[in-house]
Amino acid sequence: MKHIVSLIIALLLIISEFSFAQQQHCFTSEKMQEQLAADPSLAARRADIEAFTQRWIADNANEEEQREVLTIPVVVHVIYSSSAMNISDDQIISQIDILNKDYRGQNADISGVPNIWSNRVADCEIQFSLATCDPNGYWTNGITRTETSVTNWNGSDDVKVTAFGGHDPWPAADYLNIWVCNIGSGLLGYAYQPGINPNLDGVVIGYRYFGLDSQSNTYDLGRTATHEIGHYLNLDHLWGPFGDNSNCTADDGVTDTPKQMEPNYGCNNTYPHESCGNGSNSDMFNNYMDYGNDQCLFFFTNGQKSRMRAAINGPRASLLNSGALSQCPVGIEERLPEASINVYPNPSSGATFIQCDRWNNLNSQLRVIDLSGRVVFSQNDLILGHAATEIDLSELSTGTYVLEIVTDNGIGTKKINIIN
Ligand SMILES: [Zn+2]
Repeated sequence: MKHIVSLIIALLLIISEFSFAQQQHCFTSEKMQEQLAADPSLAARRADIEAFTQRWIADNANEEEQREVLTIPVVVHVIYSSSAMNISDDQIISQIDILNKDYRGQNADISGVPNIWSNRVADCEIQFSLATCDPNGYWTNGITRTETSVTNWNGSDDVKVTAFGGHDPWPAADYLNIWVCNIGSGLLGYAYQPGINPNLDGVVIGYRYFGLDSQSNTYDLGRTATHEIGHYLNLDHLWGPFGDNSNCTADDGVTDTPKQMEPNYGCNNTYPHESCGNGSNSDMFNNYMDYGNDQCLFFFTNGQKSRMRAAINGPRASLLNSGALSQCPVGIEERLPEASINVYPNPSSGATFIQCDRWNNLNSQLRVIDLSGRVVFSQNDLILGHAATEIDLSELSTGTYVLEIVTDNGIGTKKINIIN
């Protein structure tokens, strides 16, 4: 009997944990409300942005401007305390590919949109690209990696602070910052909307939910990032900016998304699912700004597109002129730390020697990056000094690469040609 009671208690705990996790799907509304309470000037900024948004939409409805594809530079900060959290470059690139499909209406599953909504489906003409220049003008692949002793962030913005074991944002005016970490608290992710303090700006996503075939059964198609970036570009949930819309007074400020009472979860929703008197328009449960499983979220509407493009032409406009995607010359511009680094022979056919003129650099890190930005070789704990250290690049195919060396005395990049 005692065992049965324990079993029932355990089951109840699992069930309540599961419900809790569902309720915490996305924390954007709560985070924004928290900041609105903490920072009185935020409400005024948000009101200005909303006024601008409405004006911009009225001025640009169906205009030529909306046909220009806008590209947002992205930096992904991977914050990890285990190898599972240290997701690969390929996993990150798969997420960027998903964003570029979802925001261009090119996702294959878009055919699943029920007929009633098909004429509202948008090609948002927004795309994303990993940054090629970091804030100091160094070449970058748009990914930073930080090993931390923090195993669970419990939904805290401390992940955005280097001093707390996270990683400081790159300037929010120039980059969309995405932190991938063990977010905790049953959360998939959260974002801040335009107008927020730049130190907090950006998107946080749980490492299990980032990219294609990620470490989750139900949130494995990268739609958490699609959803959170929708918030970053000034979208609300379909039920409005608050957690609860049981009296149906709130709205998302988008004309072609029906008013909706609450989130729809899972994948078993069938049309029509009515609430708030939306009748045959129904809850738009396949919209990215609802809470369904990844495989049941397919589209943004034209109205949501207009709001997001208003954001990129208004409060987020600096992203378009940031230089983060400019030709930070790969393999052409070489930068060296104060202690000069020599790499020879160059060209090399495999055995390559690295030597440092003036300093001893213990625990240096080395990465070799190809011209498309992929890391093709890496080595930690390299000891650089007067005596040359040998690395083996014989696995690389013929071509030009960038050697990026991080030492105690700074970061160096050297161009190297491989002939194999
Ligand atoms: Zn959300």
